[in-house]
Amino acid sequence: MTRLLLATRNAHKLREFARLAAGHEIVPLPSGVTLPPEDGETFAANALGKARAAAAATGQVAIADDSGIEAEALGGRPGIRSARYAGEEATDQQNLAKLLCEAPVGSPLAYVCAVAYVDPAGGDELVFEGRCTGTLAAEPRGEAGFGYDPAFLPDDDIGGPAGPRSMAQLTDAEKDAISHRGRAVRSLIASIPD
Ligand code: IMP
Repeated sequence: MTRLLLATRNAHKLREFARLAAGHEIVPLPSGVTLPPEDGETFAANALGKARAAAAATGQVAIADDSGIEAEALGGRPGIRSARYAGEEATDQQNLAKLLCEAPVGSPLAYVCAVAYVDPAGGDELVFEGRCTGTLAAEPRGEAGFGYDPAFLPDDDIGGPAGPRSMAQLTDAEKDAISHRGRAVRSLIASIPD
């Protein structure tokens, strides 16, 4: 079992990582550690920046993710700016409402997640990316998940009796099996010591 410090302040991500990296100890970021601004040009650069900062500040093996949603009809936006799509202090609900306004119903979407791993002792750095494609729902549905999940209809779900299900209507295990974060974390776990 490897002890992995997760460089995030997002409680939803902490819960998803704890499930996805079962068998490893996921440790929350100490309150005194400041994470760098997400000013990289790619998900990978932002994830690596956060993991490096957490590893340097604590001397512990750190992991971090940077993730977001790309809308084909919007040329890939909001992408790395997904958390701030409707403004610097925007809530998940405001970001979701803006996506529903700007992209056509049924248009292609992709969730992307980069997960970075930094070992400050050995100097090892790893980055893995996972993707999950889907389409935009007509209106939000479901209570699970977070962020854009209520409007994201994953291609990899066969749907329920009432038709296509949003990511927020899946169980945790169903989301983990197909999600961008699930795919990225499984690649990482396969590459690090037990
Ligand atoms: P960041 O990785 O902290 O920059 O935030 C990524 C943003 O993308 C979040 O605020 C969410 O709005 C969105 N996002 C990332 N992953 C997911 C997911 O699994 N479900 C829903 N929204 C997500």
